[in-house]
Amino acid sequence: MTRWDTRLMAGQAPDGPGLLRNFVGGEFVDAGTRFTKRSPVTGEPVFEVVEASSSVVDDAVTAARAALRGPWGRMGERERAEVLRRVADELERRFDDLVAAEVADTGKAISQARTLDIPRGAANFRAFAEIVATTPTESFTTVTPTGGRALNYAVRKPVGVVAVIVPWNLPLLLLTWKVAPALACGNAVVVKPSEETPASATLLAEVMAAAGVPEGVFNLVHGFGPGSAGEFLTRHPGVDAITFTGESATGSAIMRAAADGVKAVSFELGGKNAGLVFADADLDAAVAGSVRSSFTNGGQVCLCTERIYVQRPVFEEFTARLAKRADELAYGWPADEATVNMPLISHAHRDKVLGHYDLARAEGAQVLAGGGVPRFGDARDGGAYVQPTVLTGLGPDARTNREEIFGPVVHVAPFDTEDEAYALANGTDYGLAATVWTRDVGRAHRAGARLDAGIVWVNTWFLRDLRTPFGGVKASGIGREGGVHSLDFYSELTNVCVDLT
Ligand code: NAD
Repeated sequence: MTRWDTRLMAGQAPDGPGLLRNFVGGEFVDAGTRFTKRSPVTGEPVFEVVEASSSVVDDAVTAARAALRGPWGRMGERERAEVLRRVADELERRFDDLVAAEVADTGKAISQARTLDIPRGAANFRAFAEIVATTPTESFTTVTPTGGRALNYAVRKPVGVVAVIVPWNLPLLLLTWKVAPALACGNAVVVKPSEETPASATLLAEVMAAAGVPEGVFNLVHGFGPGSAGEFLTRHPGVDAITFTGESATGSAIMRAAADGVKAVSFELGGKNAGLVFADADLDAAVAGSVRSSFTNGGQVCLCTERIYVQRPVFEEFTARLAKRADELAYGWPADEATVNMPLISHAHRDKVLGHYDLARAEGAQVLAGGGVPRFGDARDGGAYVQPTVLTGLGPDARTNREEIFGPVVHVAPFDTEDEAYALANGTDYGLAATVWTRDVGRAHRAGARLDAGIVWVNTWFLRDLRTPFGGVKASGIGREGGVHSLDFYSELTNVCVDLT
């Protein structure tokens, strides 16, 4: 078993075996070819990962189906809620290991993993334990044609075997956001984490076993997308529903794969999120909030702001302050408490982001901060770092303002009127999140109604209540998860109609 030690947080292989295996029917299985996971901090190999073949994916789906026929399928929702709470307890017991795993895979700062990523894993299980145990279903009394009465009520049933496919940016947080409600509703899952972040999902399998989740209820397959575990899973006839978080283009590929089996899909996809800073805003809060919304997690959060529109009277001051703050964000090793900046997930992703920095220059952007690669003079020069970058000077049609970059980069442009601000913010194919900075209460509520986004934050960013609907409009997603909306996706409702006459 891997030792989840501090070497991992320095971007080095663990002291001992670093093999991450698939988890099928309650057992870790290591048959299959292997691929290497490299540290984004140093570029060094950190883990060997067993890639699931189509027959391993098949075994995982079969194990999940069998679990639905076993004790799990007969459990009431309160009992399932109790299992979810035990999972949360066990996640908390393995907290330090999970932090090390997440930092090893992503290079994110330990302070963020400790305060955001790992606590949200446990919180997801506690929240959905509560939600499933307390959410009623509807009932109606119906007048029959003969003047009698009929009672209609709805019964929640599991969908069956749910495929859960997630990206690398917030690995445990996004995985548990889907696994927790799926299990709360009585399903069995086969999960595929990103090939870039196999570690915390592997630890989650250990957590599931230790918490007494019956075998086959949680299965884990490692691998890639096309021609690998991701595609084997989405095309598998034994999968009843697919929940996916990732790029919009991958969403459409998965939708095509799901079409043959007419499988239900829930998609949380990409974004090109806007921030609007009005002249009446608390500028200190707007600057601090925009630093967070643009650069948290190296800008690799689907909810990050990549475009900020600032009302003209405060444009110069806001932009200068944002650029200064971007330059000051602390570099450091992930294990240093003061570290803020983190590397991008891989060299391939860094090439993509640096390509966008070049494109912005070619389009005529002015670079106010960053724009390149930091130099450390140590092993981090082998990693995938880029500088936090602030751009200005481009119009709304520039590719820089239309395409998701998914790095620590933001373009800032001025606006004059409120209507213009909404038109600029909405002028994209995406519609995931928007952030508004204003002291005008009426405008705050108008913005909520006028912005094409699944979530509109006013005077804050990334403040989440797990009971609220979460998802995107346009190319940013299909469906909503969160609270009762998750229960709706992860269960089938049967209407029972009883004639009482
Ligand atoms: P990605 O789409 O490349 O990969 C996501 C997952 O899908 C991975 O596990 C990958 O192996 C798998 N996959 C890829 N192709 C597949 C295929 N053809 N069939 C089945 N599975 C396949 O995304 P990424 O690069 O890992 O993550 C970044 C993207 O995720 C960004 O676009 C970001 O905006 C988005 N994202 C969205 C949300 C949200 O809640 N809306 C949250 C986080 C990230």
